[in-house]
Amino acid sequence: MPRPSILVVFGTRPEAIKLFPVVRALAATPGLTVRTCVTAQHRALLDQVLRVADLRPDIDLDLMEPGQSLDRLTARLLTGLGEAMDRERPDWIVVQGDTATAMAAALAAYHRRVPVAHVEAGLRSGDTHHPWPEEVNRRIVASIARLHFAPTATAAAALARENVTTGVHVTGNTVVDALRWTRARIEAEPALVAGLDVHARRWAGKRLVLVTAHRRENLGGGMVAIARALVRIADRGDTHLLFPVHPNPAVGPVMDAIIGAHPAITRVPALDYPHFIRALGSCDLVLSDSGGVQEEAPALGKPVLVMRETTERPEGIAAGTARLVGADEDRIVHEVARLLDDRDAHDAMARAHSPFGDGQAAGRIAALIAGACRT
Ligand code: UDP
Repeated sequence: MPRPSILVVFGTRPEAIKLFPVVRALAATPGLTVRTCVTAQHRALLDQVLRVADLRPDIDLDLMEPGQSLDRLTARLLTGLGEAMDRERPDWIVVQGDTATAMAAALAAYHRRVPVAHVEAGLRSGDTHHPWPEEVNRRIVASIARLHFAPTATAAAALARENVTTGVHVTGNTVVDALRWTRARIEAEPALVAGLDVHARRWAGKRLVLVTAHRRENLGGGMVAIARALVRIADRGDTHLLFPVHPNPAVGPVMDAIIGAHPAITRVPALDYPHFIRALGSCDLVLSDSGGVQEEAPALGKPVLVMRETTERPEGIAAGTARLVGADEDRIVHEVARLLDDRDAHDAMARAHSPFGDGQAAGRIAALIAGACRT
């Protein structure tokens, strides 16, 4: 009997971070053939992770276009992935999360009656416009997938509310696997993260706030409010902000116009994953609208203020490590000041714990996929 063939499909930085542990675990599972297909929906950021994880994709569709609309991107993904599946003829498709790539891959697989395994299933904000369009992408994938790897019991319960109860497994989030693997690599090879050293003297002796901002919902007015808040925080004098800037062209120019060359704000291009993890481990608190950062910060005991009105990751809020502040200038400034000025408030949020996983999720997922291939 031929070995079952698993095609793992991804296209963006967060998917690559959360899937490289799964690819490794599948590759280590006897009796399976593992192939990887990248769409390169976000070329540069994806490549950063591929390098760090030493992952060479078997198929690279290289579908990124400058200024791509969601319609055009989705259409190209669907046809490109469908053609790749026709050539590969996989027995299973694995997708992660909520991107256009994950949604289009699930749909192309469904058109070919190929079963889909969904990593990070069941995240729901309950609002189809936040995060947009990810909330709907997730629901589409859930309606197609045969295996649903929910990171937490909360995520499994969200699936149950949509009557998705078969093939649901609570595995933990593979982001914790990626984080642990990367921290071990940094420990073995500290030179891997020496790139920030040239900047570090700028925040020596100061409190450090790590900032990321790129969500589609925050582009426009939200980014302006965030930029103004950053300037007010930097004006305190005792605090430095480190801001790796997402390459989305709607982010940089706003920051240039409002932040300019503020001496207490260091803007750098998006950091590769080990550098970002090092920065996360060194900062006092995190200000971010990212999904993945909401999961990583608690695992490192860093308070994270989430610049969104709602989150599909309520576990960090429930555990007290994350707090929603919206893209609201005054709220951001107020909450950052509270954490910087009130040690008890900071310490209450700064408890290291991992509501999202124990670092063993990828192994569980690989075993469940292997089991499904045998039935
Ligand atoms: N990240 C990174 N470099 C950076 C900023 C973030 O490697 O400069 C990582 C971060 O550790 C997290 C992931 O990128 O794992 C989050 O990706 P992003 O915020 O783009 O997407 P989201 O998680 O919101 O879908």
